[in-house]
Amino acid sequence: MSHPDAPDAESTDFIREAIAADNQSGTFGQRVHTRFPPEPNGYLHIGHVKSIALNFGLAEEFDGKCNLRFDDTNPATERQEFAEGIQHDLAWLGFTPSGPTLYASDYFEQLYTWAESLVERGLAYVDDQDSETISTQRGGFGQPGVESPFRERSAEENLDLFRRMRAGEFDDGSRVLRAKIDMQAENMQLRDPIMYRIKRSTHYRTGDTWVIYPTYDWAHGQSDAIEGITHSLCTLEFMDHRALYDWYLQQLDLPFEKPEQIEFARLGLTHTPMSKRVFARLVEGGYVDGWDDPRMPTVRGMRRRGYPATALRAFVDRVGIARTNSTSEIELLESFVRDELNQTASRRMAVLHPLKVVITNWPADEVVLVEAANNPADPDAGTRQVPFTGELWIEQDDFKLEPPPKYYRLSPGREVRLRAGFYITATDVETDEAGNVTTVLCTYDPESEGGSTPDGRKVKATIHWVSAEHALDRTVYLYERLFSDPFPGEGGADPLDSLNPSSRETVAAKLEPALGDAAAGQVVQFERLGYFAVDMDNPSIFHRTVGLRDEWANIQKRNQAQAGKSKQNNQQGKQGKKKSEGA
Ligand code: ATP
Ligand code: MG
Repeated sequence: MSHPDAPDAESTDFIREAIAADNQSGTFGQRVHTRFPPEPNGYLHIGHVKSIALNFGLAEEFDGKCNLRFDDTNPATERQEFAEGIQHDLAWLGFTPSGPTLYASDYFEQLYTWAESLVERGLAYVDDQDSETISTQRGGFGQPGVESPFRERSAEENLDLFRRMRAGEFDDGSRVLRAKIDMQAENMQLRDPIMYRIKRSTHYRTGDTWVIYPTYDWAHGQSDAIEGITHSLCTLEFMDHRALYDWYLQQLDLPFEKPEQIEFARLGLTHTPMSKRVFARLVEGGYVDGWDDPRMPTVRGMRRRGYPATALRAFVDRVGIARTNSTSEIELLESFVRDELNQTASRRMAVLHPLKVVITNWPADEVVLVEAANNPADPDAGTRQVPFTGELWIEQDDFKLEPPPKYYRLSPGREVRLRAGFYITATDVETDEAGNVTTVLCTYDPESEGGSTPDGRKVKATIHWVSAEHALDRTVYLYERLFSDPFPGEGGADPLDSLNPSSRETVAAKLEPALGDAAAGQVVQFERLGYFAVDMDNPSIFHRTVGLRDEWANIQKRNQAQAGKSKQNNQQGKQGKKKSEGA
């Protein structure tokens, strides 16, 4: 069964149409070769999953190839650990690069050679000004650019200086290499952009071989060209960079068709600032346990939390490819997770906030093994035996001394069903000095095993339980949103201002014994409570993956009601209030 919001198999978008058109016209000789180009300065997040699914998905659909290339041109923040983690995450998501892992840093020599050739042809020059001056001179919209006093240096002088930049003769930041394009170009990216900076920083792969590093724009298109990429997909912020991407490639006189840059909308998610820089701050500031903290929107955080890779992929497919940025609701992602787990997760019983029940007419020391279904959604999942005794744990919430109206669970004199067990009726309570109920005394009906009685007597509630004697003591983490604000950082605010101070609650839970066999990373459903993942390293810790209630369905209902109302309003000639679904 697939999620009701899953897209049709043959759904298309403007990128697929562009590729189909290229294939029709023979632009790339029917070749489709994409790449996923992460910078190893952090781990992958859910936004990257969209780019991955797009790039790898296109290669698969068009019988092409997709490279994994690390865009590692910025030594200060890049690390081997991140490069390895990204490869691991990619494999976990279920994608395999078409060849070996590639690195832009392997192209440094080629990029340098090409840069020298631009210098020789008067298309690039060394500027001795500092980056602040250069940036001021760039001007702005409707503001003229100012040409650098070093712009007219001879090719010979430029070549000499550029070689000495590489040789390490100059201080960091004292000179840059700039492309000589047009300081009055309407597109700011073409106003003599920087190609190389001097930066003494040990690179995680090339060490101290280089003291000059290429900028993103200079490295990216040329790396694409080296690899024979046909369609270079990037997010909308790079729209203005396309003219520069094309300009550089035009100067190189390549013997084959130049790659084509196409931009698409980034994935946005409510309650989620989508930026490695913000995540690095969360980790470094100790706000979370690490990049794999289950509250993190990283691939490794979501994996630890119990999100299946297939659910992440189904979610980004549903969001689809668009040309305008939008923000999807996090509840939609959660509904994909829930949908998948509903099919696959075994049902188990666990009590998160325990209250003792003593069955006064239970034969002393007797243990009855009752049979419980492992997954009502999957009959093949079979059953298990759960020990039932005269002392049980139930949830504190499932008993009320003075039940409010419409409360049908346990209360004095009330009979309820214990899931897969017996009917019990509360007869009395024990309390502590403060009057809090510490134990509920009950009687049980010996004829009610398995959930029904010979007289067909009805009860209005079924609650879960765990035998006290057999219970496993485990730590369970309950998670709320990491950021309370649906749009953290909106309007220039610091996203960390809306960090939820109580995004994790720790409870000492009582679990049914079968949970002792749960494998690391396995996700189970705690009946009536939600889905919970066994920690990947410590099997005595469980993480709440997602609750049972489908909040996405509620949001949709609300939106539909709103849409209906606004339609009515429009019919009455009034301005209706529009609310987007956000996907
Ligand atoms: P961040 O700001 O989180 O560092 P980034 O774009 O700098 O993101 P990269 O490692 O450079 O991160 O990204 C690798 C690829 O993933 C790029 O092609 C980028 O366009 C894409 N990508 C990053 N974030 C998103 C997103 N939110 N939605 C879709 N694609 C994304
Ligand atoms: Mg980046």
